[in-house]
Amino acid sequence: MNVLIVYAHPEPRSLNGALRDFAVERLRAGGHAVQVSDLYAMQWKATLDAADNTAFEAGGRFDASEESRRAFMNGTQSADIAAEQDKLRWADTVILQFPLWWFSMPAILKGWIERVYAYGFAYGVGEHSDSHWGDRYGEGTMAGKRAMLVVTTGGWDSHYASRGINGSINDILFPIQHGTLFYPGFDVLPPHVIYRSGKIDDANFGEVASALGQRLDALERTEPIPFRKQNHGDYEIPALTLKPGLGAGRTGLAIHLQDGAADA
Ligand code: FAD
Repeated sequence: MNVLIVYAHPEPRSLNGALRDFAVERLRAGGHAVQVSDLYAMQWKATLDAADNTAFEAGGRFDASEESRRAFMNGTQSADIAAEQDKLRWADTVILQFPLWWFSMPAILKGWIERVYAYGFAYGVGEHSDSHWGDRYGEGTMAGKRAMLVVTTGGWDSHYASRGINGSINDILFPIQHGTLFYPGFDVLPPHVIYRSGKIDDANFGEVASALGQRLDALERTEPIPFRKQNHGDYEIPALTLKPGLGAGRTGLAIHLQDGAADA
């Protein structure tokens, strides 16, 4: 399998750095080809702007979506964007690895998604009409590929439990897993979250690495989170609200899991 790790941490000697090195080694030992986009080391430009279309006419009004569409269609995207899209085409599985910063991904990784996920590539794909709102949420360019988050947190697992003070980890990661991974078509595997990272030291690092190793060994056979697909009959068209009667017994974001599926 081809595995792309998109990694966002500024310090190679961090816990995340050690886990990234471990993951690369483990995956290669398992016979996989691995590429890493180390965003800080690459000095990835996080801000989406007019320079992302090399053919942008100076002085024109910048429309982020329209300029993205034009650049993608005409082959005038900046080279860094095109290179990351090629890595995504190459990958069978994509791992986003990052420390949880303010309940989300570090800004540099958000900027990777904003810029690499071009119009026509990750959104604006497929027919758009009153009867079909694009190929997304389970369909799209990334269909057939898998994705997984590897996330470290300062907070404890109980802080992120269903009644935890921080909100449940499934809800916190929903915008990333559903909104940026399932949206362009990835099958999203349950996240690997490493809680209470401040308590990790030489004595327990082996255990932490071993748990990650088991998830990596099982990448090809892990069941994805059973998000409902947009175009498989569960949503009203064109409102795209969940049909009455579906999601019974569930509240909040969990209604977007298929009926009968265990809560992720
Ligand atoms: P490090 O700080 O590098 O290391 C963590 C521990 O692991 C340390 O004790 C270190 O000694 C040890 N360690 C490192 N490398 C190794 C190794 N090779 N072998 C053995 N032990 C090692 N947390 C939340 O829960 N929610 C938030 O919203 C949140 N927001 C944050 C926002 C910001 C801006 C910041 C800076 C932190 C935030 N945190 C939050 C905490 C953050 O998630 C953790 O600091 C982070 O996940 C730790 O990962 P790290 O790679 O930076 O760890």
